[in-house]
Amino acid sequence: MPMRPCWVEIDTHSLEDNYRLLETLAAPHAELMAVEKADAYGHSLSLCAPAAVRAGARWLGVASVEEGIAARELVRAASPGPNPGVRILVISGIFPGQAAALIAHRLTAVAWEPWHFDELEAAAHAAGLAPGSLPIHLEIDTGMSRQGAATDALSPLLARFTPASSLQLEAVMTHLLAADEAGGRVTAEQLACLDRALGLISAAGHFAEWLSVGNSAALLAGQAAAIAELAARHGMKALLRPGLALYGLAPAFDPPFIDEPDTLAAARAHLKPVLKWKSRVVSVRSVPAGAVVGYNGTFVATEPMRLALIAAGYGDGLDRCLGSRFSLLVAGERAPLAGRISMDQSVIDVTEIPGVEPGDEVILIGAQGSETISAFDHAHACGTIPWEVFTRITARVPRIPV
Ligand SMILES: *Cc1c(COP(=O)(O)O)cnc(C)c1O
Repeated sequence: MPMRPCWVEIDTHSLEDNYRLLETLAAPHAELMAVEKADAYGHSLSLCAPAAVRAGARWLGVASVEEGIAARELVRAASPGPNPGVRILVISGIFPGQAAALIAHRLTAVAWEPWHFDELEAAAHAAGLAPGSLPIHLEIDTGMSRQGAATDALSPLLARFTPASSLQLEAVMTHLLAADEAGGRVTAEQLACLDRALGLISAAGHFAEWLSVGNSAALLAGQAAAIAELAARHGMKALLRPGLALYGLAPAFDPPFIDEPDTLAAARAHLKPVLKWKSRVVSVRSVPAGAVVGYNGTFVATEPMRLALIAAGYGDGLDRCLGSRFSLLVAGERAPLAGRISMDQSVIDVTEIPGVEPGDEVILIGAQGSETISAFDHAHACGTIPWEVFTRITARVPRIPV
């Protein structure tokens, strides 16, 4: 059956190219984890997990055990035969009772609460795992107060990694809270805090292979070298975790750089947006001056107008705050949204765009002719960030590979 015309196109080749570009920007300092939480930032894990693996990713990051199980299935289906060895990290940790499933699907937990260690150790024992065979990424809170152990709470956690335990300290992880602030003062403070934590860890006789720090902003700001230097000082290797950049967007830096780092310039020049969001004109009507458009008549035609109905509304993730203050693309031109956005539909003003007809393609995110609408444009118009614009495109909008 032909579909309702509101869809997202995912260019998996662009995602592969983006991954390879980020790899070159990280080299020779760091390896990368492809972050694909929240259904690959709304881009479809089913399409993006195999694409990242094709591009060479050896680490995928997801939010939850549920997402990890889906990712494991996709990785297995994408590379049948011998275990391809792709690691899948559950970034937001386990919830009570999830450790057995995590182990069964060969996922790796970020852990920081004592009860995480209790549950992981008990599940590993029940699964008959050998000592030191369940890798753990220990998260340290270096300033974000979100997840991770405080430095002064580390010793009882480190004491869990006994020779008899199934748990193995594979990575020490932290998350940067302001990597998108050019200048990197907060990042430098967080890395100093991490340095102290790593000192405590080695003083307690423990060793981890990986230091897992840094999102897209850290990578593009050129922080990979500093992170790798810190890692090397503690005999570790650096692992960075870009998400947004994988989908083709360079984060905005605020305040901006005076001297843009080469990594950021290269990213701006070469990253390719992976997602396009499209709809079509359903019908076109002419209305006289004084006609009311949409709920509550917040928009009134000041002159005779031509209006095009399109099949996309807030039920698809088109933010209601865009009503009467944002434009979409049709026939290569910007067509202002007129009136409130409805759940399933919205109306654009095509008075100044001759020849618009039912069936014409409408761009919500993407390029048409010489015009482009990015997720940043949506975000700026309603006071949010592109991460949210992507993740709130709802499940009823099919993600179609191109
Ligand atoms: C989401 C997330 C990332 C990726 O962040 P981007 O800004 O999208 O690159 C990295 N690390 C952690 C812990 C995250 O939660």
